[in-house]
Amino acid sequence: MKYDPQAIETKWQQTWATNGDFHTDHTSDKPKHYVLEMFPYPSGNIHMGHVRNYSLGDVVARFMRMKGKNVMHPMGWDAFGLPAENAAIKNNIHPAKWTHSNIDNMRTQLSRLGYSFDWRRELATCDKEYYRWEQVFFLKFLEKGLLYRKRQAQNWCPTCNTVLANEQVEDGLCWRCDTVVEQRDLAQWFLRITDYAEELLADLEKLKGGWPDRVISMQENWIGKSIGAEITFTVEDSEETIPVFTTRPDTVFGVSFMSLAPEHPMVEKLIEGKEQADDVRAFVKRITSMDRIERTSDNLEKEGIFTGAYCINPVNGAKVPVYVANFVLVDYGTGAVMAVPAHDQRDFEFARKYDLPLQVVIQPEGEELDPATMTEAISAPGMMVNSGEFTGITNEEGKDKVAVWLQENNCGEKTINYRLRDWNISRQRYWGAPIPVVYCDACGIVPEKEENLPIELPLNVQTREDGRSPLPDTPEFVNCACPKCGLPARRETDTMDTFVESSWYFARYTDAQNHDAPFTPEALEYWAPVDQYIGGVEHAILHLLYARFFTKALRDCGYLTFDEPFANLLTQGMVLMDGSKMSKSKGNVVDPTDMIARYGADTVRLFCLFAAPPERDFEWSETGIDGSYRFVNRIWRLIEELEGELITVAPCSSTADDCTSKEAKGIRLKEHETVKKAGDDIEQRFQFNTAISAVMELVNELYLAKDALKGDEKGRKVLSSAISTVINLMSPFTPHLCEEIWEQLGHKERLVHALWPTYSEEAMVKDVLTVVVQVNGKVRARLEVPASAGKDEVEELAKNDVNVQKHVEGKTIRKVIVIPGKLVNIVAN
Ligand SMILES: [Zn+2]
Ligand SMILES: [Zn+2]
Repeated sequence: MKYDPQAIETKWQQTWATNGDFHTDHTSDKPKHYVLEMFPYPSGNIHMGHVRNYSLGDVVARFMRMKGKNVMHPMGWDAFGLPAENAAIKNNIHPAKWTHSNIDNMRTQLSRLGYSFDWRRELATCDKEYYRWEQVFFLKFLEKGLLYRKRQAQNWCPTCNTVLANEQVEDGLCWRCDTVVEQRDLAQWFLRITDYAEELLADLEKLKGGWPDRVISMQENWIGKSIGAEITFTVEDSEETIPVFTTRPDTVFGVSFMSLAPEHPMVEKLIEGKEQADDVRAFVKRITSMDRIERTSDNLEKEGIFTGAYCINPVNGAKVPVYVANFVLVDYGTGAVMAVPAHDQRDFEFARKYDLPLQVVIQPEGEELDPATMTEAISAPGMMVNSGEFTGITNEEGKDKVAVWLQENNCGEKTINYRLRDWNISRQRYWGAPIPVVYCDACGIVPEKEENLPIELPLNVQTREDGRSPLPDTPEFVNCACPKCGLPARRETDTMDTFVESSWYFARYTDAQNHDAPFTPEALEYWAPVDQYIGGVEHAILHLLYARFFTKALRDCGYLTFDEPFANLLTQGMVLMDGSKMSKSKGNVVDPTDMIARYGADTVRLFCLFAAPPERDFEWSETGIDGSYRFVNRIWRLIEELEGELITVAPCSSTADDCTSKEAKGIRLKEHETVKKAGDDIEQRFQFNTAISAVMELVNELYLAKDALKGDEKGRKVLSSAISTVINLMSPFTPHLCEEIWEQLGHKERLVHALWPTYSEEAMVKDVLTVVVQVNGKVRARLEVPASAGKDEVEELAKNDVNVQKHVEGKTIRKVIVIPGKLVNIVAN
């Protein structure tokens, strides 16, 4: 019988589905394990990146089930978002129709891969049964003060026709379409993620060990905490003050000028009546009309202009000229910067350009800095000098002492600043969850009443050619009654950022069909947190930070009780072809469906798992998938060739008494070693490729030993036990093949319900050990030595080896070191 993956795979997929083999619930008394892969955007077809992602997750899910865990492994669709609208415009089809037909298509494709999903938990974020809960959360956040509306300059993508959160701008470009991002003044809804900055940072500590270090440090950098001081400078001959934020209060004695952001509210007051006034106004106008990206670029030529005003340094009374500078941002710190050119490179360049003085206040050890000859700023630590009462202490110590002094003298305080900004969740697009507020001329902004939810996204609208949302032009959506006074009002036409949907879907899965609540507390508390989350490293900031924040916000609104959504994170690498990521536009795509038709799902899965460790990128190769196909066939043929010889036994069931030959002993030993190695590789390090290699070795040994073992009862038992083990160990990787063979071997219970085999230490005790013999550090022999041999016996055997004798001939043996079971080291000269 030839190996026929199409027939076998369809058969078992149907059997598993009919029997609900992957259904789980939260009432089990087994320990739980929640495995989740980042859910896909329903673009229409699965690609190799998906196959890799879900195959990794499926191994974890199936393995954990075999380890006796109650495993939840759900799947759903991140279904709102722009591509649906763009496709709708291009193909003249409604985004809802496009999305749902893509979902149907992808569900079929995923099912063909045999993943152990509990499909009863399937969800699509564009369904009102999903997004209605998000609208409920919105109202709760509004009530709690976690949401607010504000007008300010926003990142705007002219191609996507919508705003972007800071996290969604990468190097000045739109994360989705690479268009240069512009600035636009708009009133938008913001979630107060900055209220959680400290907790988001501190709780990274809890994720250490479970998350990749790289992702943790990317989050740390994004949150960007800096400790420093706010120092108050008084404007000369005035009551006005200018507070500055600095991370280097230890350098305050070295301030030689001050720089204000062009938008700083003090600028007008400072220049009033000064001869510089007109020039400063012209400068401010020029800089404020530049876009933010340009202004924050590292390549920006630093420039500024003197206001004619001075302020007073509170620590030493020095008169400090005040400049307006293009590189100071009004929304970072206080929009004013104290400049210390001797110790800050940007200030140094500025000072040299405008011929401003330098004062050295930190002297690094072993150096004598001279302001006249310095060619760059020195930021290295050292001793404080020229710093009044602080002279002579280290600058690290000084940071805190100066901050305390400022506080005691009412001219400053110790502060903490973050790079993180509040999350703008408004989007000016159609295909998203409506924001549940209305605007009433009499009452202002009025939250919708909870009993009126969901506010449904109208589906009977035509998407516009230019990409602008049709919602503002849809009177039956816009016109509504004010929930407060009942008078005619207008509904908000912005929709929510789709990252809101992906911030809580893991919680919805725990009770996805609940019509009365976003989730049932008992189910959520049982399953949470996700034990193993798997996805691409490109989500290291955006999605993962949002989901962590959302969890904490829901916790503080009383919806749940845990702090972190994902206990362990695995970030998988990419599938490459010709050295770059597979993409339609590059034309370097391998379609998983074609590969399944050619080789079967088991082979495609196996190749994705065997090609490289999960975190690494791997190159798609024909030879690689051929190799996987050959191995699958090799297992199949082994069973064929042993037809009539195999008996129905459990893995690891042969005993020492069954092993009457050298071959039998060898197979039993290898069988148990393989169970240990494969289990350790999967469980401890996700090294699926080395786990598979270990099984391959066992299969090789079975081919070599089979003829010696067949024909007698004990030999058959040893063979059958080892083959059972191969089938069990391979079942997370190639589940259909293994299930089919398991049935052929006469097992009544399906393999999906089998437990991971248990190895025994007794079986792994070796009779014979390999000992390496070195002469003067060079390997001269490898000896098979009885495990029971003592040190003297091993030394004797080593000395008697022909090759060893050749290398000590004519020399005197000075020393022999024996490490039992491993090494004999002979020193001779
Ligand atoms: Zn864009
Ligand atoms: Zn009203």
